[in-house]
Amino acid sequence: SENVQIRTRFAPSPTGYLHVGGARTALFNWLYARKNNGKFILRIEDTDRARSTPEAIQAILNGLRWLGLDWDEGPEAGGDFGPYFQTQRLEIYNKYLAELLSQKTAYEKDGAVYFKSTDPDGNIEDFVIRRSDGMPVYNYAVVIDDALMRITHIIRGDDHLSNTPRQVMIYKALNLAVPKIVHVPMILGPDGQRLSKRHGATSVEEYAKQGVLPEAMVNYLARLGWAYKDQEFFTRADLLEKFSLNKVGRSAAIFDNKKLEWLN
Ligand code: GLU
Repeated sequence: SENVQIRTRFAPSPTGYLHVGGARTALFNWLYARKNNGKFILRIEDTDRARSTPEAIQAILNGLRWLGLDWDEGPEAGGDFGPYFQTQRLEIYNKYLAELLSQKTAYEKDGAVYFKSTDPDGNIEDFVIRRSDGMPVYNYAVVIDDALMRITHIIRGDDHLSNTPRQVMIYKALNLAVPKIVHVPMILGPDGQRLSKRHGATSVEEYAKQGVLPEAMVNYLARLGWAYKDQEFFTRADLLEKFSLNKVGRSAAIFDNKKLEWLN
């Protein structure tokens, strides 16, 4: 209803630099929250301890700051908001896990906890929600966090399409409201193949170092999988005015760094 505050989030796994695809996802979530007087939450999904690094966390924070994508909440950190970190929320995941176990919608096998699939078609098998090392699995932790952080809209890459039904099962089992979930198309290179280093730099930081201006980058990212008529130049104010979710995903998301140079 109209008086529900819009709340979005960006939830990167800190396993590397801030990729242009991640930056695009962050931008769409940020725009949607800002445009609607809502809140934009930053949550670092660092439960994969072997692959998460402090350097990656720093690169993500620096990249978001450079792009001007500020976030609203989180534990106090040096007089500012820190992001949320999943590794600081393990007790919370355990609490809901206990509930699933007692409902018997989850069970233990070989030291791991499995969620009992409720897929009527039988295409989705039971899946792990807590690994034997005690860490929650993405599909589980993301649901608990999005629910507790009262996220109303999830905007993420369509590489997560197959995760969504699993997450919806967990929401239902815990009687939690399912947010609106929007999947944006993966970013392709000019040759139509999935964007990779072959196509040039894929990290926001590299473009910053090359002298690309943040406003050019924001303009460029906004048009990856979103379009407004045939407009090519957008100021941030323009984007805030014109951005809408119903135009997301209708246009191809092709990253061509020649065009970025041109915008710059
Ligand atoms: N940590 C996940 C990722 O970086 C988040 C996906 C999501 O937005 O739900 O892919």
